[in-house]
Amino acid sequence: MSSNKILSFEQLDLSTNLLRAVSEEGYTTPTAIQEQAIPVILAGKDVMGAAQTGTGKTASFTLPMLQRLEIHANNSASPARHPVRALILVPTRELALQVFESVKTYGKYSLLKSAVIYGGVNIDTQIEALRSGVEILVATPGRLMDHLQQKNLVLSKVEIFVLDEADRMLDMGFLPDIKQIIELLPEKRQNLMFSATFSEEIKKLASKILIHPATIEVAKQNSVSDLISHVLYPVDTKRKQEFLVGLISQQALEQVLIFTRTKHSADRLVQQLCRRDITCAAIHGDRNQSQRTKALEDFKQGLIRILVATDVAARGLDIEDLTHVINFELPGNPEDYVHRIGRTGRAGRKGTAISLVSREENKLVASIEKLIGFKLKVEQMDRKDELELEQSLDFNAKTEATEQKSKSGVRNRNKNIHSSVRNHENIVPFNKGQAVRNTNRKNKTNKNIDPLFTEPYVSKYPVMAENDSKLHRATHRQHARKPVPALFISPAIRNKVD
Ligand code: AMP
Repeated sequence: MSSNKILSFEQLDLSTNLLRAVSEEGYTTPTAIQEQAIPVILAGKDVMGAAQTGTGKTASFTLPMLQRLEIHANNSASPARHPVRALILVPTRELALQVFESVKTYGKYSLLKSAVIYGGVNIDTQIEALRSGVEILVATPGRLMDHLQQKNLVLSKVEIFVLDEADRMLDMGFLPDIKQIIELLPEKRQNLMFSATFSEEIKKLASKILIHPATIEVAKQNSVSDLISHVLYPVDTKRKQEFLVGLISQQALEQVLIFTRTKHSADRLVQQLCRRDITCAAIHGDRNQSQRTKALEDFKQGLIRILVATDVAARGLDIEDLTHVINFELPGNPEDYVHRIGRTGRAGRKGTAISLVSREENKLVASIEKLIGFKLKVEQMDRKDELELEQSLDFNAKTEATEQKSKSGVRNRNKNIHSSVRNHENIVPFNKGQAVRNTNRKNKTNKNIDPLFTEPYVSKYPVMAENDSKLHRATHRQHARKPVPALFISPAIRNKVD
């Protein structure tokens, strides 16, 4: 490797067409992994890349791959003239789509054809694409196996094989599929393997696949970007939702990716946030592909403010300019912390990773800190701010219930939560400015509504000391579930309405 720093893509000996595509993307300087990997891959060598997403890893293998395959580019209509020459295996549908986008973007001035195949969607359009012939195929292992069994493609002409996010592939149990797929590849080929972390298992797999690989490491193993600041708030499990809402509003966070440990808690959190008029959607394994794609697109475009994700669904997510990641619950595996927070602080921009940590999760903090090699900065929300927050949330929840009830009538009284979540599926697009207005709506009182006839009787409990809060919430919930039409309005609410 040259010791001279490469300052431009031109110095990497890329073709004019690739340079044009790269420049149209606005890239001026190659990232560290691109600087190191592109010359090695162009020279036809195998590569073991230690790089996380966010480092520019995809272009580091896609650009030289496109260049090496260019000799096969042709505009023949015959599928036989377009056999699969490069196979890129990735663990998730989201990553498959992103890598495919990169192949199309960087290869837009080439005649090389590409396709993406992944599970959870109708197979027929994929069969059509495969049968018409593609040189570059991006695939998840399971769906690729389905196509191979149906004989929709052959892999005997593959010259370049890429295993991306190999660590996650193993975590997801894809090893048997990968082994079978490799059996179908020609022996003579170039192999490129990328992984963010390096367990013994990964090293074993690498030793089986790669031949005299060049090892390229752009960041220390399991290290995190210096551009990310880490903050930890100690919060009781039961108070996390309220705390989160407060954090979002106090810090005026406009685009946040939130992680939960389970699909169930992702769904529950989305319900709660929707109740607070915060636009959000969940992305996890139980949501079908079109729901996941729509949620991600809405989030990227600023149509929704919050995306709540589980670890598997969020693999490889690339969201430009994402400033905040919040761990609503810490991951069980410390390496997932590195992956989660790696969604922010990408491509040279700063990011913040916030973790809400309950007492039970403290031991997870220790293993995360051991892995990343430094302590997370602990902060406390100001108690005064917290009290204000609790009061305003309490008030907002009631105002919202009043608004909902007056809109939907007594018939729909008990459907409020479900309908607000369902409505989101068909969310009417609005821009970020509108999103802010929408969120602020809850702070305004609606003077047209006469609370005397619409407000259910809900007693206004004084804010309790922390050890009383369980009782407070339990009693409060009972009232909220069984509203009694009011002839009485609590003075606290009347004061705010007036
Ligand atoms: P990746 O690590 O491949 O997921 O890429 C992370 C992000 O960096 C993507 O949004 C790319 O578009 C962007 N990117 C890749 N290479 C460069 C570059 N040389 N300069 C600026 N941005 C880049």
